[in-house]
Amino acid sequence: MHDLNKYIKECTGELDRLHIPYAKNIQFVINHRACLRLGQCRRQGGNYTIEISAALLDDRVDVKEGLKNTLHHELLHSCCGCMKHTGRWKAYADRVNAAYGYNIRRCASKDDQPLPRDLLPKAKYLLRCSKCGAEYPRQKMSAVVQHPERYRCGKCGGTLINATEKAE
Ligand SMILES: [Zn+2]
Ligand SMILES: [Zn+2]
Repeated sequence: MHDLNKYIKECTGELDRLHIPYAKNIQFVINHRACLRLGQCRRQGGNYTIEISAALLDDRVDVKEGLKNTLHHELLHSCCGCMKHTGRWKAYADRVNAAYGYNIRRCASKDDQPLPRDLLPKAKYLLRCSKCGAEYPRQKMSAVVQHPERYRCGKCGGTLINATEKAE
């Protein structure tokens, strides 16, 4: 497991060298819920809480691309007037990217998640076409999950079956 505190120190040190004034009163929390969000910065009064997804601490995740990139993204939100991804936040992100070769962006799209595939949250329900085998993962209970036989495969028109056990 990556040592979160070690990389927080590295990141704040990198910001110090660029004289970027991140907040000093930040509480770091590891988020163990399975979700696609890698990090979040919240402000309450003058205090900040930065949530880092536990998935980023996995040894299989690249430290710079995954963990430190996310730490910088969230640390920059703690700078004055930087809760949005525009203006000053963007200018700071550009400076950190240029100085250290990061790729801090307004948000990581689903396709360029720095997480290995098997660390991504699994779908709760899985429907499968009985004819062509196409799979339709679903996060929520819905009509198609309850009655897959009433629906047709979008690719071949075959009957859907509930194959949820196999998704876990
Ligand atoms: Zn952000
Ligand atoms: Zn099909």
